[in-house]
Amino acid sequence: MQTEYDKALSEVKAKCLGCQKCALCKTRTNTVFSGGVPNSKLMLIGEAPGYYEDMKGVPFVGEAGQLLDKILGCVGFSRNENIYICNTLKCRPPENRDPLPDEKAACSEYLEAQVKILQPRIILLCGRVAVQSFLNTNTGITKIRGKWFEGPYFSKMMPIFHPSYLLRNESREKGSPKWLMWQDIKEVRRVYDQLD
Ligand code: SF4
Repeated sequence: MQTEYDKALSEVKAKCLGCQKCALCKTRTNTVFSGGVPNSKLMLIGEAPGYYEDMKGVPFVGEAGQLLDKILGCVGFSRNENIYICNTLKCRPPENRDPLPDEKAACSEYLEAQVKILQPRIILLCGRVAVQSFLNTNTGITKIRGKWFEGPYFSKMMPIFHPSYLLRNESREKGSPKWLMWQDIKEVRRVYDQLD
């Protein structure tokens, strides 16, 4: 039987899939609403769909997405089981350019609704665009990644590197972006395990 929760989420999804609020609706192949499991304590928010996400209608499915799955999997998180994944923008910007302010403003109702309905306990802000959607800061991600912030609905939020950034940085040495990501994801797991 469909719960109030399922109903609210499917209504937002249906509206989002047919959305024409900004010009990206003309160039998208698919609207990318979400991936993973809705009823999760953990939510990851990225930037916007890329080429493969746009083709498949699923977030984080290209090379960066595969790396993300690997990183999450190392500490026992999986999109089949315990994480909900979405983006700040639900449609792909042409050539993967940065989202424009008016596109982010137009699309914000969907992300806000996802957070309000799901009320995750932990929100991972994956990359600069997601960070700027929630934290009023111009501080670079390298300075604030791995730190905890208070999020909406009593959640805890942590900025983390975007996997596409990690793909451009091969090193795994101590202090490298990949090493830092590993520290961050272990910390997320530690706090997740303490949730009631
Ligand atoms: S990016 Fe967001 S606001 Fe723009 S058309 Fe897609 S769903 Fe609508």
